[in-house]
Amino acid sequence: MHDVVIVGAGIAGLAAARALHDAGLRVRVIEARDRIGGRIWTDDSAADGPIERGAEFIHGDSVASWEYVRLLGLTAQKAALWDGRRIYWNGTVSTAQQLESNSDIARLTTLDAQIMAYRGPDVSFATWLDAHGYEGIARHLADMRYAHASATTPERASVYAMQSEFAAQVIQGGDDYHIRNGYARIVEWFASGLSIELSRPVKSIHQDENHVTVHCADGTSYQARRAIITLPLALLQRSSVSFIPALSAAKVQAIHALDMGAGCKVILRFTQPFWDENATFMTLPDPAPVWWTVDPKRSLLVGFFTGPRAEALLAQPDARAYCLDALRRVYGNVVDATCEAYELVDWSNDPWCMGGYSSVPVGSLSARTELARSEGRVHFAGEATALDGHPASVHGALVSGQRSAAEIMVAHA
Ligand SMILES: Cc1cc2nc3c(=O)[nH]c(=O)nc-3n(C[C@H](O)[C@H](O)[C@H](O)COP(=O)(O)OP(=O)(O)OC[C@H]3O[C@@H](n4cnc5c(N)ncnc54)[C@H](O)[C@@H]3O)c2cc1C
Repeated sequence: MHDVVIVGAGIAGLAAARALHDAGLRVRVIEARDRIGGRIWTDDSAADGPIERGAEFIHGDSVASWEYVRLLGLTAQKAALWDGRRIYWNGTVSTAQQLESNSDIARLTTLDAQIMAYRGPDVSFATWLDAHGYEGIARHLADMRYAHASATTPERASVYAMQSEFAAQVIQGGDDYHIRNGYARIVEWFASGLSIELSRPVKSIHQDENHVTVHCADGTSYQARRAIITLPLALLQRSSVSFIPALSAAKVQAIHALDMGAGCKVILRFTQPFWDENATFMTLPDPAPVWWTVDPKRSLLVGFFTGPRAEALLAQPDARAYCLDALRRVYGNVVDATCEAYELVDWSNDPWCMGGYSSVPVGSLSARTELARSEGRVHFAGEATALDGHPASVHGALVSGQRSAAEIMVAHA
C-alpha cells in the first residue's frame, strides 16, 4: 500500500513524486514508456553535444526550471532571439535589425503590448490580426511567434489566453535559453531515488471512499490513498485510460474544451554550417517556416512543425525531401550537398502523447482550472493543467506537479 501513486514519469509526475517522497510519503510512479522524461527526451549520443528531441528551451529569465539549473550547476545559454534572428523576406535572408526600418516588422516588437491592451470579448488571434491590419510578412511572423509556437493556429488561438500567458511572461522575462548539458539532467535529478515502474501502461483508475487502485495493461495493480494523473491532454481526450467512477461532466467538458495540436521536430545534420555564424532562429516561408540552430557553430538545424504544418509534413511520402526542398528554396543547393543525417521526431503519433502540447481556443480560458481540479482522491497535473500562465512548457508542468503534491500534503496533514 502506497500513500500516492503517480501516473506518468514526465516532469510533472516526477516533480510531484520528488516533493512527496522528500516529505516522507510512500510514492510509486507508473510510466508507460521504457524511459523517464516524457516530452523531455535528450539524445546524448552525438559527439558534439546533446540534441533535444522534445522540449529544448527554458522560456523565461526566472521560471521554475532555473532553480534546478543552478542547483545542478548546469550551463544555460541565451538563444539570442533578436540578434540571431534571420528572416526570409523579398527573396533574401535578412537579419532582424536590417528589417527594423520596415514599419510592418517594427510594429511586431510591441505586439505583446498591443494584445495586452485589447479590451473586448474573447476573439481569435486571426480576428485580432484582421482588425489591426496585420498581413503579409508581419502576419506570418506574428503567426510563427504566437500561434505556431503554441501548437495552434491564429484561427483557433484565444486572445484572452494569450493575454494571460503574456502577463506571466512579463513577470518572468521573455528570453529563451538552451541548457548546454541537456534538459534530461533536470529530469534525472528529480527521478533519483524514486520508485518508478517503466514499460507499464495504466489502463484504468478506480477509486472508492478510502483508496485509489491503478490497474496496468500487464495485469499489475497499485493501491494508494491518492493518485496523481499526468496524462497528456490528447490521451484524456481519447479516454485512453478509464476512470471508475467516471470523471465528472465538468471535467470531461474541460478536457474537450482545450486543444492539443500536432507537433514534431526535424533534426538535420550537415557537414558544415551554411548559415552565418551568429544565426540562431530562422523564420522562412511555408511550408517549413521555423528552424533554429542548437549552437550556430554546430552543423545542426532543428525544424519545428506544429498544427496543420506538422500534419502536412507527416502526410508526405518523403518528409526529408520535403524539408530539404523548403530549405533549398531559401539557401540553394548547398542544402542537399551538405545534408548528412536526418531524424523526424513525431510526437503526434507517439502513443503516449499524441500531440505537441495544449492550447486554449476562443472561449475556453477557464478550462485549465477545471482540468486541474481534483476529483475525490484523484489529482491532476501536467502542462495542460498549468494555472500560472505557463502551460505547454516544462516549467509549467513542473509547477503543476508540485501543486498536486501540495494538495495531497495538505489533505494528508
Ligand atoms: C516538440 C516539442 C517541443 C517542446 N519544446 C519546449 C521548449 O522548448 N520549452 C518548454 O518549456 N517546453 C517545451 N515543450 C513542452 C514540454 O515538453 C511539455 O510541456 C512538458 O514536458 C510536459 O510535461 P508533462 O509531465 O506534463 O507531460 P509528459 O512529459 O508528456 O509526461 C506524461 C507521461 O505520461 C506517460 N503516460 C502516457 N500514457 C500513460 C499510461 N497509460 N500509463 C502510464 N504512463 C503514461 C507518458 O509516457 C509520459 O512520460 C515541447 C514539447 C514538444 C512536444
